[in-house]
Amino acid sequence: MARPANPTRRPNIVQTGFIFMETNLKNILIRNGISPSYHRLKIFEFLVGNRSHPTADIIYSEIIRQIPTLSKTTVYNTLKTLAEKGLLSPLTIEDTEVRYDADISFHGHFKCQSCGTLYDIDLGPFKTGKKLAEAKKIDGHLITEKQVYFKGICRKCLK
Ligand SMILES: [Zn+2]
Ligand SMILES: [Zn+2]
Repeated sequence: MARPANPTRRPNIVQTGFIFMETNLKNILIRNGISPSYHRLKIFEFLVGNRSHPTADIIYSEIIRQIPTLSKTTVYNTLKTLAEKGLLSPLTIEDTEVRYDADISFHGHFKCQSCGTLYDIDLGPFKTGKKLAEAKKIDGHLITEKQVYFKGICRKCLK
């Protein structure tokens, strides 16, 4: 499992209780022009509460247990909408899968090639990490998306 992400990264979401969190998430959807249907809310809530960077298939198979009326199309469409509004970051470390991250602050990712776990990496301790986080342009190019990926063998698999 990836280490739990620091909740202070998303000041909009206060995870003090289920009801409170749900109300907040609903407001976040509304503020971003997304009509907060029950399914959309459940998908967003799942991603905010589950920071293991799940794929659409994992999200579907987890939520369908609670909501049997959920369709895969709804999951895909909702993920697309949330990503377009900048509420999720789609991670395409492998061209065979897309993973979704509700932590939209700038951070790196480390994928273990042994167990497949995707870890969040705080780039702050690295000299260029803070500069990268703040950079709006690079070499005169306008940045619209930033991804920092590492691959290797994770600390658990190294033991
Ligand atoms: Zn591993
Ligand atoms: Zn992440």
